[in-house]
Amino acid sequence: MRKKIIAGNWKMNLNVSQGSVLVHRLQERIKTTKNVEVILCPSFVSLQPLSLQIDRRKFKLGAQNAYFEDEGAFTGEVSIAMLRDLASYIIVGHSERRHKFGENDDLIAKKVAACVRNDIAPILCVGETASERAAKETKQTVHDQLSVGVRDLTSQNIKHLVVAYEPVWAIGSGRLPKPHEVEEVTSLIRSTIAHIYGQNVAEKIRILYGGSVNPDITKGYLEIEGIDGFLVGGASLNYEYFSRIVATAQELEGE
Ligand code: PEP
Repeated sequence: MRKKIIAGNWKMNLNVSQGSVLVHRLQERIKTTKNVEVILCPSFVSLQPLSLQIDRRKFKLGAQNAYFEDEGAFTGEVSIAMLRDLASYIIVGHSERRHKFGENDDLIAKKVAACVRNDIAPILCVGETASERAAKETKQTVHDQLSVGVRDLTSQNIKHLVVAYEPVWAIGSGRLPKPHEVEEVTSLIRSTIAHIYGQNVAEKIRILYGGSVNPDITKGYLEIEGIDGFLVGGASLNYEYFSRIVATAQELEGE
């Protein structure tokens, strides 16, 4: 069975003390969990202090980005290797990295491979823009992003991969795709992986939905066939919303 994930992407929000307050509040509200992985993805500067603060029966840490080379003359970058002791997951290819920082599929594939090489699970984000959706190119876009993104993984190490389907137009907009549209893309993601690595491998990969997730849609969207959790942006900064999302996932998993 695939363990559910609720991951919070704090983006470039909250300084170290604000992040610590949020974790304190979440820690009070979120109960110890076995069947749901709750991942907090703060900024780089908060990873180390939060690694000392978090209750590891409740939370894991993730980074929002990192560079694929392990070390060297790459001013301003943080390597995936440097995050080994701090983060269990790294978000790779988030649409804001793709569209605001010009990251392409080739760079993203190198980051995915470097995550796996360093024993950190990549959360590979894929998703279409509004114009790709209007042109009915959703499936082609997601297929291409995914197949290039995993190009250096083997059927052995791909099992650590998590894929997040995040329609770009749904991120931070309050707009949501219909559940059947999410299901179609989820099924495309799993079949793309099955085509390359086989059905057994594909069944083990966890697929998240991301884009304007809020507590009110949690139950319905977690019931979409093939969805194994959420990557939550804005609502992860609100302790009441985020703990409600986690609590709903825990209830659905019998906790
Ligand atoms: C995100 O940043 O990955 C995201 C899904 O944001 P939001 O939940 O705010 O749409």
